[in-house]
Amino acid sequence: MSDVQPRHAASSPRALLFAVPIGLLVTTLASLWALADSPAAPSADQILPPAPAVVRELPAVQIEIEAATDPCDDAAVTAALASGDDSAVLAAFGGAEAFRTSVIAGAAPCISLSDASHVWVVVNKARTVEPRDYAPRSLSGSGLMTTTGSGTARTDVSAALATLASAAADAGAGRIGVNNGYRSYDLQVRTYGQHVRAQGTASADTVSARPGHSEHQTGLAVDVVACDGHCTGIHAFAGTPQSAWVAEHAWEYGFIVRYEQGRTATTGYIAEPWHLRYVGPEIAAVYHAGGFHTLEEFFGLPAAPDYVE
Ligand SMILES: [Zn+2]
Repeated sequence: MSDVQPRHAASSPRALLFAVPIGLLVTTLASLWALADSPAAPSADQILPPAPAVVRELPAVQIEIEAATDPCDDAAVTAALASGDDSAVLAAFGGAEAFRTSVIAGAAPCISLSDASHVWVVVNKARTVEPRDYAPRSLSGSGLMTTTGSGTARTDVSAALATLASAAADAGAGRIGVNNGYRSYDLQVRTYGQHVRAQGTASADTVSARPGHSEHQTGLAVDVVACDGHCTGIHAFAGTPQSAWVAEHAWEYGFIVRYEQGRTATTGYIAEPWHLRYVGPEIAAVYHAGGFHTLEEFFGLPAAPDYVE
């Protein structure tokens, strides 16, 4: 029956739904055809007589259905992608949940979860930043207290972070500051190298990304700290009012806590309540509503606990 299977069925779930009943019909007709020739149970050879006419019509039907359901053929999606406006892309898909569903189904070939310039990029131990020397087009500070020399992030991310910090302060959760934001590939070489020298490779891999595997290189990740009076470090963030507030409200500002407690088997990292990853308000809302805890689960990707050597 392999010649009857439409070539692109797997790329379009709705096409598949249409294809299955037609396929069953073809199977039934073929079986009846074979049974009419032989009252005994049909052998494989007997199910291969010249195909009924309906089989030859199938490809045309398939093409028509696919053209109507492939979101990447939608002019609104194409225009939004060309403009670089991720919110407009998600809207053109019919929202972030429709976007997620299409991507998981393999029905959106124009969307790459590897493209570092989009809020839906997934970087982990199995997926590198692409291209290797990627740097965001625009970087800026958030205006918050900053404890390192690398406190910038993508301009839209820094703006969202400033809004988040302001809301946290208004809610009585205290001041939030920035530790690390954007880190270039070269800076990640030095950061990871320091961890390896201090604690060895195995231990370093649980707390620091290897170069090319850090979300910080995308400009979408920010490590935040508590700054009541003075700023403390990232390892003092857990247990602070800021940390509790961020865990509950970061999604409202387009961020997720990327490395949660108990998810090391999926992410490869111990809990980092300070590491916020910007995914934009649309995806963050769906992520929160769906009760997701890792981006890997959210996009139906394999767990990435270890580097692929
Ligand atoms: Zn981080």
